[in-house]
Amino acid sequence: MSLMEQIYKTVILERSRHPRHHGALPDPATQHEGVNPSCGDELRLSLLTGEDGTITDARFQGHGCAISQASADLMIDAILGKTHAQARDLAHNFKSMIRGEAHDTDQLGELRALSGVQQLHARVKCATLPWTTLEAALAGQEEPASDER
Ligand code: ZN
Repeated sequence: MSLMEQIYKTVILERSRHPRHHGALPDPATQHEGVNPSCGDELRLSLLTGEDGTITDARFQGHGCAISQASADLMIDAILGKTHAQARDLAHNFKSMIRGEAHDTDQLGELRALSGVQQLHARVKCATLPWTTLEAALAGQEEPASDER
């Protein structure tokens, strides 16, 4: 195993054991659930969007393998402060990396810790579950929850 692979593995284990963004958010946070039946991963994502349209807070609950948990935690790090469009763009880029397709490495930052999953075909959905859940949550919230404009 190369040094980089060892570092990436450490990040995944550390994040899955001690996630920084575990939990739930109170209303009016958007909640969305995702499941990956092939592995048994279950995820509930809570998102809060500020008046400026950026994601101001996010948490996740649920259980699953180290890859799905680490992916959820790293995802939340990456989307905080982003607009929905930026988050969707990042989701697309991340999934491209995991699927072994062309992607923008620089934009992914610490998310590259999961790049090795592209060689573990059975685990691809573990890594993409949080992002698919995010996309579904954002799709269900195209308009801001408040009508004060
Ligand atoms: Zn899994």
